[in-house]
Amino acid sequence: MGQAWGVADPDSTLITGIGELVTNDGENGAYAALTDAALVISGGRIGWTGRAARAPAADAVVDVAGRAVLPGFADSHAHLVFAGERSAEFAARMAGRPYRAGGILVTVEATRAAPDAVLRANLRRLAAEMLGQGTTTFECKSGYGLTVPDEARGLVLAAEVTPEVTYLGAHVVPPEFAADPAGYLDLVCGPMLAACAPHARWIDVFCEDGAFGADEAAAVLAAGRAAGLAARVHANQLGPGPGVQVAAQAGAASADHCTFLTDADVDALASTPVVATLLPGAEFGCRQPFPDARRLLDAGVTLALATDCNPGSSFTSSMPFCIALAVREMRMTTEEAVWAATAGGARALRRDDIGHLGVGARADLILLDAPSHAYLAYRPGVPLITAVWQAGRLVAGSPPSVP
Ligand SMILES: [Zn+2]
Repeated sequence: MGQAWGVADPDSTLITGIGELVTNDGENGAYAALTDAALVISGGRIGWTGRAARAPAADAVVDVAGRAVLPGFADSHAHLVFAGERSAEFAARMAGRPYRAGGILVTVEATRAAPDAVLRANLRRLAAEMLGQGTTTFECKSGYGLTVPDEARGLVLAAEVTPEVTYLGAHVVPPEFAADPAGYLDLVCGPMLAACAPHARWIDVFCEDGAFGADEAAAVLAAGRAAGLAARVHANQLGPGPGVQVAAQAGAASADHCTFLTDADVDALASTPVVATLLPGAEFGCRQPFPDARRLLDAGVTLALATDCNPGSSFTSSMPFCIALAVREMRMTTEEAVWAATAGGARALRRDDIGHLGVGARADLILLDAPSHAYLAYRPGVPLITAVWQAGRLVAGSPPSVP
């Protein structure tokens, strides 16, 4: 802290009067925060952070009057390319019917039938909803097309709104391949991958009973790797299974869900760089037991929090909601939950330019209408995100005006 960055930049902004500034620039990127703080945005990046009393001059000044400033949220798991909705299924589930992965096929049918304009409008609405709630980076998967052209168009649309695009042809086996799952796997790893790889950074597979087994998942990830896509895995959501081990063996960036883990799974996560991305919106939406975050943290596993935003199991786009669940239901501390929703998400996306507010980081930050990050869990359901900057530009809300 205290170094200058781009001091000659003509468009620098000083944000001062910060009651609590969460920087996540502790040792090895650990959670860290300053009080009575200020920061300078310069050239779209963080130019300086430190005590407000020592802040350098800047071209513009914003005094936030004791409010908290945090890094923008990095939501590393979302399914936003879809049509239709499934509120009736949710209501039935809340009335006692268990969730089955096959429910995905309802959305597949609606998505295939939807024109591009409908998919694009829904995607943009959800992306704007995320931004307004402080999410400045999000990942977006395909997986509701499950034909070569429908998967490819899902990725083309996703790439319009985020660079973190994930090919999820291996979401479920579509009905037309019900009698020939091996044939579908060949399609996913062959012509569908060839059509999708140019539009994606990541490949994902739903490794679960009712979806894809260990050998199939490993084959999908290997094919993706050969096509230049890095791996992520839907793992151990609905019951114990091989997903985490598949992720570890494939060198995946992240194993997502991690709700039902053996000791060997926890060891695999602790001894490899695989991030465990917890998606408490899914457990909330399916009334399932939450993942044991404390067990993972105590073992030294790196955790991310993400929304899993999708119309079936978790139709929330709100990272503050996920933070509140993580604190209340998963016994994460408020600091751990905020770190997992920012720096943890960045690690799950292998990004070092976001998720923290160290000097040189992209100036993605949020202003809370509250004095502390803890309010995100302390005042659940209250819209506390009052302004959002992305790469130094104010993109949602408005900061307090300087008198
Ligand atoms: Zn998912």
